[in-house]
Amino acid sequence: MKPQSDSKQLTDQFGRAINYLRLSVTDRCDLRCRYCMGEDMVFLSKNDVLTLEELYEISAAFVARGVRRIRLTGGEPLVRKNIMWLIRALGNDVKQGLLDEVTLTTNGTQLPGMATDLYDAGVRRINVSLDTLSAESFKAISRRNKLEAVLDGIKAAKNAGLQVKINTVAMRNFNEAEIPELISWAAGEGFDLTLIETMPLGDVQGDRESSYLPLTAVKSVLDQKFTLKPSDHRTGGPARYFTVGDTGSRLGLITPLTNNFCDGCNRVRVTCTGRIYMCLGQDDHIDLRAALRSDSKPENLNACLDKAMGLKPKGHDFAMSGGEMIGKVNRHMSHTGG
Ligand code: SAM
Ligand code: SF4
Repeated sequence: MKPQSDSKQLTDQFGRAINYLRLSVTDRCDLRCRYCMGEDMVFLSKNDVLTLEELYEISAAFVARGVRRIRLTGGEPLVRKNIMWLIRALGNDVKQGLLDEVTLTTNGTQLPGMATDLYDAGVRRINVSLDTLSAESFKAISRRNKLEAVLDGIKAAKNAGLQVKINTVAMRNFNEAEIPELISWAAGEGFDLTLIETMPLGDVQGDRESSYLPLTAVKSVLDQKFTLKPSDHRTGGPARYFTVGDTGSRLGLITPLTNNFCDGCNRVRVTCTGRIYMCLGQDDHIDLRAALRSDSKPENLNACLDKAMGLKPKGHDFAMSGGEMIGKVNRHMSHTGG
């Protein structure tokens, strides 16, 4: 099937409507999670990163082509200077009915001071990444001593009225034994929790295979401890959901290596330098920066979006083979945005 370049709605070559944008606003971060980046990560020069106004113009181009949800990510989106300007602008689009939702994925460290501002700007849901409830383990995995700030941030978000979902990367020899406790904690707080398999994105000074934990194995263990009922809750994303006992909370499983769920993919990602990546697991991209800085901006941006639709692959190539991760991509997750 050909991409439908004449229609308003962005639709890829496999007929999937693209209505969800993940927009990375910075590659910088105040943590150094071992599966995401090295300690001595080299960040982009500030000149290479789009201005907040340019990020908003890109969002507007996607909204005009049928995108209804935007998730800000990074790096850590809340460490970008003046990020509330962009969040307020997008929140305003939600208030005007141009967008259904603006949300973000955050490590939570900045939430104590920002949660109320987020709510006031129109954000209603956030994802907070948290791999452990132990201060010592948090420091070991993120190389920073900030668990308390994250837990305070989660509390502040809840108090501000934000719906919180926890994202946890499941790792062998790290949080494998703690996963049931994390699920019980999240359910007790009224949060959904999604477990994610570690993916081979970027060089992180260490082998990923030794910490790779297939969620199929984790699920078998969890089935002994919880009543997990399959749920038909869907977000158009790769997670499959289960309700946890009678708590009403959900457990999501994102299994890029053991099982991919690319058929219903509804999203593309844009980096803070203005590249559209059609898939987390592929290097094909289209650079929007030149179009953004050209004289015929709207036409050129639209042409780039149409071209991108023709390049979106059917699925990613991540897999385990003979104990090795295949389908590796050189970009770090912090560059493409989680
Ligand atoms: N800094 C924010 C945070 O941590 O939530 C947003 C960006 S972070 C790159 C987004 C998500 O990607 C986080 O939930 C993180 O745990 C996850 N992530 C990073 N590197 C990953 C990898 N190699 N495999 C799987 N998940 C990864
Ligand atoms: Fe930072 Fe998020 Fe990457 Fe951790 S996962 S280093 S918090 S960008």
